[in-house]
Formats: sequence, structure tokens, C-alpha cells
Amino acid sequence: MMQKARVILKEHFGYSSFKKGQEPIIESILQGRDTLGIMPTGGGKSACYQIPALLFPGLTLVFSPLISLMKDQVDSLDGLGIPGTFINSSLSYDEVEERISQAKRGKFKLLYVAPERLESTRFIANIKSLPVSLLAVDEAHCISQWGHDFRPSYLAIGQFIQELPHRPPVAAFTATATAEVRQDIVKMLGLKNPKLVVTGFNRENLFFSVIRGENKRDFLLEYLAGRKEEAGIIYAATRKEVDNLYEFLCKKGYSAGKYHAGLSDEERTGSQDKFLYDDIRIMVATNAFGMGIDKSNVRYVIHYNLPKNMEAYYQEAGRAGRDDGPGECVLLFGPQDIQIQKFLIEQTQYSPERKLNEYRKLQTMVDYCHTPHCLRKFILRYFGEESIAEECGNCGTCSEKNELVDKTVDAQMIFSCILRMREQFGISLVAEVLKGSLNKKALRYGFSDLSTYGLMKDRTLKQISDFANVLIAEGYIQLTEGQYPVARLTPRAFPVLKGLEKVILKVRKKEAAAAADDSLF
Ligand code: ADP
Ligand code: ZN
Repeated sequence: MMQKARVILKEHFGYSSFKKGQEPIIESILQGRDTLGIMPTGGGKSACYQIPALLFPGLTLVFSPLISLMKDQVDSLDGLGIPGTFINSSLSYDEVEERISQAKRGKFKLLYVAPERLESTRFIANIKSLPVSLLAVDEAHCISQWGHDFRPSYLAIGQFIQELPHRPPVAAFTATATAEVRQDIVKMLGLKNPKLVVTGFNRENLFFSVIRGENKRDFLLEYLAGRKEEAGIIYAATRKEVDNLYEFLCKKGYSAGKYHAGLSDEERTGSQDKFLYDDIRIMVATNAFGMGIDKSNVRYVIHYNLPKNMEAYYQEAGRAGRDDGPGECVLLFGPQDIQIQKFLIEQTQYSPERKLNEYRKLQTMVDYCHTPHCLRKFILRYFGEESIAEECGNCGTCSEKNELVDKTVDAQMIFSCILRMREQFGISLVAEVLKGSLNKKALRYGFSDLSTYGLMKDRTLKQISDFANVLIAEGYIQLTEGQYPVARLTPRAFPVLKGLEKVILKVRKKEAAAAADDSLF
């Protein structure tokens, strides 16, 4: 069977080898096994069910959330010589009936369906009469309330699968990796002993970096100056920030467009098209931009603000270098961005439990911004892929000249201050106390009497809290969950406090140079 799959890959798709992950997924599906494929956007998941669809005798039913993309998907099947069609709310009653009866006569190998269709009992009855050989669920995370794109209509799919007279193998696909979402997919779709394939997250052509402690606008201007001919996306957290940045760049003479949900349809389509056809080089956008957009020559994606979680970040950053040419993914970190994201979490109607989960995911992004280790490794580990070596050699932390610096004394100061404040406060107040500032709250609690008060008065508040964030990312300090996290020591911190272990950190060369007159960074 895999031999035949390879022939189809060549003859219909024109590729001579599988992309990572496609082979084990297709193999598992062809064996009739339920399969959960976790692949990044652009990883090539369509072929994972389209190839088995051609090898199975009956029809492959594909649930897909985006009505706007279905037609494109079917059009591109046409181009590959694969008979397929779609059914969604854009069709008239007669058109739906016609397509169903064509499907009954075996005219199609693939039928794309919007899950909303399952609200119609007549539709369900019709589908049940079709010879379904395989059921594929695209964007399967939409079934989970933990996912970033929960769609209630997905909940009906599980029930529908159970009711099918001959239950076909089910293949579910998502780019979301968290354990809760995976478990939800398996549970809600009723997958039986599914084969789990996590792969393809590594994008070797992308260079990841985090910029901390620089003026963001200055950084942008410097960065863009050398890239006037290249296409790039700048993501910002809010519409207002997009408007501001857009104006800023236009004033500086850059050919930029903007995109966010506050603009009219015409404005959005207008700037999207200009970007696609290279009439403008830079797209300044909120996360509303990018879904379903396949522009291959994006050379850089800059995040002007911290994204809300790693899934969102990786999907957005991954829009760089889709042509396999070089791409740069730069994240500009500023501590105030954490507040924006917390505010956005608080604005939601999520349950308290869900909010905690969102805070946890946000903290992972903050950790990403502070890890002294390989950024690619950090990302891949998050997605459950453990295949690369300790250092990739192609990210901000791997490629910069790093030095190992003994930070034990600094760490001890921070640890002991946290202990003396009885592990009851957040990092910013700890920093105020170490700085010895006249902060009202610090004085009110009598922290000016602590032996650690002013212990780091020669540093800036920012330096102190940056370093505390590194200690968090390194697992010495743990933040409690929620909107106002409190800093506590983990068991790792105590041997350091007792002088039994050292804290040796990799410090970037630039920061190490500054460390000559400033022992912190
Ligand atoms: P997604 O996982 O986002 O659905 P697609 O299925 O659209 O990704 O595939 C992304 C791109 O990869 C498409 O252009 C597709 O033609 C291409 N592709 C799929 N399989 C292969 C392969 N085996 N070799 C090379 N390119 C492939
Ligand atoms: Zn690296």
C-alpha cells in the first residue's frame, strides 16, 4: 500500500518524497487505524488524507471549519486531478441534494463538509447512506474548549461518527500541541487507540530570536533599513498599536499596509492584495491577518508585542520562509506586553479554570523570551518534538557569541529577598525592595527593614526583574498562577542559597560586555 501511496504522491502531487510525518500518518490510516496527526500549518497535512482517499474504495469525508477555504481546497484538488467537492451554507438546497446524489453515484473521492451541516437531520441521514471509507477532521482543536479556536459545531462530529453504520477510520489533524487539547480531541471524537504522530514542527530555514531591553521603534528602523526590498509582517497586539506603527513606518518612508478587524472589508482586502502582489513590502497587522494566506516569499515576521501563547506565536512566525528560503522570526519583548495579554485574558468570558490555563500558556511565552538555551529546542519541546540536538546553531541564543557567567551571588540575593518577603509578592515588588526604592507598598509592609533592602541598588529595576525572569525560565523561581502571580522558590533554589550549587548562565556577548561595569548583565 505504501508503495502505491508513493506513486500517488508522485503522479498526482508531483513530489518524489514525503514530508516529515506524512509517511507514518498515511501508513497508519491505510492500516485502518484512528490517527491523530500533529503538524504545523504548512506541514502538508492535506496529502495525509487525500492520498488514502484515493486508495480507499469509498468516499473520504473531510470536516473543515473554514467555509471560505473549502472552495480553494476543492479547486486545488481539481488541479491535481482528484475528484472532490464541498457542502456548506454557501450552497442552495438543490445544489446540496445534487452533490449528495453525485456522491452516492461515486463521482467524488473527497467531500468537504462544514460541521454546521450536522445540525440538519436530513443531511445526517443523507451522509449515512454514503459509502464513507475515511473520515478526516481538519483543525481538530476546534473541538476543544482548551484550544484557541473552539467551535461548538465541532462537538456534533463525535456523535455523528458514533452513529455511522460502518465506522470508518478517523484521522484528526491539528497544529495545537497542548496535552489538554490532545486529550479532548481523542475523547470528543471517540478515537480508538489512535496512533499519535507529532512531527514537522522544525522549520530549519527559520532563524528565531528574541530582543529584550531595546527601544522597539529604534530596533525596527534599524532592522528594516537593510531590508527595503523584502516582504515582511509585523504583528502587534492591538488595533491601536497597528495604527500607530503603520503611521510611524509610512512617515519614515516605508511601503507598508495595515490589517486588523477594525477596518472595513474593502480596506482589509485592499491591503492584503497589495501585500500578496508585492505592491507593499510590509504588512502591519493584528493576529486577524494571515489565516489561509499563502504568501511564500515572506522573509521576516516581527512580533512587536508578546503573543498570547506558543501556538499563536509559532503559527504567525511560521508565515516566514514558506518557500523554504531564509526567514527570520524576531520577537520584541517588553515587560509591559505581559500586562496587555493579561488584560486581554481578563476581558474574556472564560471560566476561571480556563483563565488559569491561559495564564500558564502566557508564562511559557515569557519563559521563551528569557531562556538562555536554544530557542528552537524550546519551541520543539513545547510541541512535543524532541528530535534535535541541544543546540541548533541557527537561533538567537545559539548563534550569538555566548559566555558562561557565574550568577550565583546575584541569584542568592534575589532568592533570599523572596524568602524574606515570605513568598507573598510578585517579581516587581521584589525588584523594588532589592533596588531599595521608596515604593509605597514596600514601605507600608516595612520591607525597608529587611537586610535585602537596597542590596542591588546599583542596578536598574529593569535589570533586576529581567534577571528574575531568567531565573523563572530556568526553574529556580516559580510564579503562582493567575492574574497577580506571586514569586516562590522551587527546590532548585535552595542548594544555591546554601552555597552548594552555582548558577552558571549563558549570557549574550553584548550583555556580557555590559556586565563589565554591571555585574548583573
Ligand atoms: P497544511 O498542513 O497547512 O494543510 P498543506 O497540506 O496545504 O499544509 O501543504 C503545504 C504545502 O506543502 C503545499 O503547498 C503542498 O503542496 C506541499 N506539500 C505537501 N506534501 C508535500 C511533499 N511530500 N513534498 C513537498 N511539498 C509537499
Ligand atoms: Zn538554537
